[in-house]
Amino acid sequence: MVVATSASLWWTLRQVQSLAQPFQHNDLWHVSSVHSELARVALLARQVKELEAPDVHLQERLEVLLSTLDISGSSPRISTRLRQTLPQTALDLEDLARHAERWAKRMGSAARERAGVSDDINLHADDLLQRVRKAVVAVHLFATQETDRLRQELHKNFMQLSAVLGGLLVGTALLIRKLLSEARAAQALSLQLSQANRQLEARVSSRTRKIEESRALLSFILNSSPSDVVLVDVESGFVHFINNQLVERLGLQWPPIKLYLPELLQDPDTSRRLMDALEKYGQVDAMEALIGGRSPRWSSLSARLIEVDGRLAHLLWGFDISTHKQLESQLREIASHDSLTGVLNRRAFMERGTALLDHCRRHAKPCAVMMIDIDHFKLVNDRYGHQTGDDALRACATSIAGALREADILGRLGGEEFAVVLPHSSVESAFSVAERIREAIFEMQILAGGATRLSITVSIGMAEMDHRDADIEAILGWADQALYRAKATGRNRAIAYERPTPSAEHKGVSS
Ligand code: GH3
Ligand code: MG
Ligand code: MG
Repeated sequence: MVVATSASLWWTLRQVQSLAQPFQHNDLWHVSSVHSELARVALLARQVKELEAPDVHLQERLEVLLSTLDISGSSPRISTRLRQTLPQTALDLEDLARHAERWAKRMGSAARERAGVSDDINLHADDLLQRVRKAVVAVHLFATQETDRLRQELHKNFMQLSAVLGGLLVGTALLIRKLLSEARAAQALSLQLSQANRQLEARVSSRTRKIEESRALLSFILNSSPSDVVLVDVESGFVHFINNQLVERLGLQWPPIKLYLPELLQDPDTSRRLMDALEKYGQVDAMEALIGGRSPRWSSLSARLIEVDGRLAHLLWGFDISTHKQLESQLREIASHDSLTGVLNRRAFMERGTALLDHCRRHAKPCAVMMIDIDHFKLVNDRYGHQTGDDALRACATSIAGALREADILGRLGGEEFAVVLPHSSVESAFSVAERIREAIFEMQILAGGATRLSITVSIGMAEMDHRDADIEAILGWADQALYRAKATGRNRAIAYERPTPSAEHKGVSS
């Protein structure tokens, strides 16, 4: 559209320029001037002939005519355009120019020649004047026609330009309308976008607030929890989170900046097991360990290897099982000890006895066992009552235990029967222990029924582990055989088991 408008404008300008070109008027003025000058020359020629004017004036007028003709070369200066469109006019003017030049030349020569010039002018003047007049009319007509043509063309171009400008106007109006509607749409879109943005911002801030609240709640829960919780960076030991419970347990005033998990655990072996399991499996569940600072407590620990901000971290939580551990140990104590005397019960005695025997056998050390039975205990019960019998049993256990070393074990196998395992002891050294026991029991001060002092004695049978793979039951059986002999031979004595000779053994007889 812009190109079309520019082209039309350019074309119209050209038309205006051509319309405004002065050549037609120049031609017309030129030819009219020539006509006037020629008329003056003709008039002067008549006056010269009738001697009313000197011929020098004619010469001057001829010079003026020649200059009006504006001759270049041999022809008067006429526009090429005129020469093409009005060839006759051009020829007439050229003819006039030839005559004028000739007349001027003759006027410049001898007087006789000059005298004939006015006659010659008078002779041709009418014809030439008529031709020049025709030329004036032809040029005028031509100029008028040319002007009309140009005006029409200009009109046509103006019409075209108006059409183009009208189109341009409509196009511009449409463009403006489109731009306005687009601007309105853009404004509406921008409004929607800003609304959406505000909604998004509100949602984000609400989410952020909720996350912060959840975080605060989680932190509150974890801090109020009786469990210990800590989250630390594996490499740097940076503490991401530690709850108050654990801070207190570690005996710290403030949460530490750095903490490595092994530092939490008291026992290096447990610590190594925990770290190995975390490295191997990435998780640990319910591992019992002693944690804490100055007063460590039992804890059931679980841990996970997780990723926090693109780095590996250890999450560890644990709960206190000290009470549970205490109860467990109490239960174990109850389950393994005799409730009346406090010494090992039969099952526990057999277990630990077996372990001691194995230990001695592995280290090629001797090991002796004893069976101790209270003499005539039934009579104690019968005479002084069951309660006194119990007291007597407790006193006996205490006396026997007092005569033993730390490494020895004592158990109540049932009723008024006790058994002892003496590791690293031969039957000879066991004999001296048995004597100490007998003496201690004999000297016990048990009062029954007022001031009556009970006199209690025990019979003891002893045996020693031999090179054969005899178990605790077998060796206790040998000691029992020796005890049987002690009873049989008068009680209140200690007798060692004597291995039967090969021939007697073959016959199945024991000593
Ligand atoms: P011996 O010298 O032959 O060993 O005679 P004894 O009377 O000691 O042996 P016996 O096996 O005949 O009797 C054992 C008694 O021990 C019978 C029972 O009343 C008593 N007794 C067993 N267990 C307990 C107990 O827990 N408390 C009390 N008070 N007496 C018990
Ligand atoms: Mg008995
Ligand atoms: Mg007895």
